[in-house]
Amino acid sequence: MTNLTEPSVFNFDAIAIVHSPYKQKFAIPRQPGLVTAAHGKIELLADYNNIELVRDLEQHSHLWVIFVFHATLEQGWKPLVKAPRLGGNKKTGVLATRSTFRPNPIGMSVVKLENITKQDGKIYINISGLDLLDGTPVLDIKPYIPYSDSIVSARSEMASNAPQQDLIVSFNEQARAELEQQKTIHPNLETFIRQVLAQDPRPAYKKLNDEMQEYGMNLYELNIRWQVKESQCSVISISCAKIINQ
Ligand code: SAM
Repeated sequence: MTNLTEPSVFNFDAIAIVHSPYKQKFAIPRQPGLVTAAHGKIELLADYNNIELVRDLEQHSHLWVIFVFHATLEQGWKPLVKAPRLGGNKKTGVLATRSTFRPNPIGMSVVKLENITKQDGKIYINISGLDLLDGTPVLDIKPYIPYSDSIVSARSEMASNAPQQDLIVSFNEQARAELEQQKTIHPNLETFIRQVLAQDPRPAYKKLNDEMQEYGMNLYELNIRWQVKESQCSVISISCAKIINQ
């Protein structure tokens, strides 16, 4: 019989931190790869800010990022959670979901590795397609190995396909002018906003009865305001955000 050897409590260091355009949880896609226009960077910290750690990493197109759900960990966990893919009402075992409320609040995301850069003595792993909140602490980074990590015959009855792109996104005149002003700072902002909103980030219970309610979301340092009528999502304005909480 195998016994648990000491220790059973482990102490891990954050080796890096994520700089993400997602400044609050609202509107972050549910999984990586859904919003390919999301670009972020992982900054190696302290003793780990050493170029030797990432030698040959660029031989891999994608990475596993193992991280802490730092913004929800204080809320603890429950054995049963409501899975959004089941309509948000039915409860299912936490280990059968990708919920953030887990016994150990650890997440894992496959992201695209764009490149590795060094600026002011800091090493940055530039990534895209992330589903990570700004400030997310990173415990580990590993290369994605297609022959082993991609299982063509795998099945998931709960999440068999990527979520549908539910909304058709357009920009009103004011938003279009503001988009134009942002072009030099954020050249891919339009695509980014379109991809985020096409996922329909509204909570399930709101979708039934929120005709023309105005929503706001923070991307980069910007507040984007939008509303939905049937399946049409109209972006109303893009302005500088006051980022208050996550
Ligand atoms: N891909 C990861 C996984 O499977 O472990 C995360 C999946 S989880 C369902 C994705 C959600 O986690 C995002 O929509 C966002 O709301 C939330 N999230 C991202 N970073 C977070 C963080 N640092 N703390 C708490 N929640 C976070």
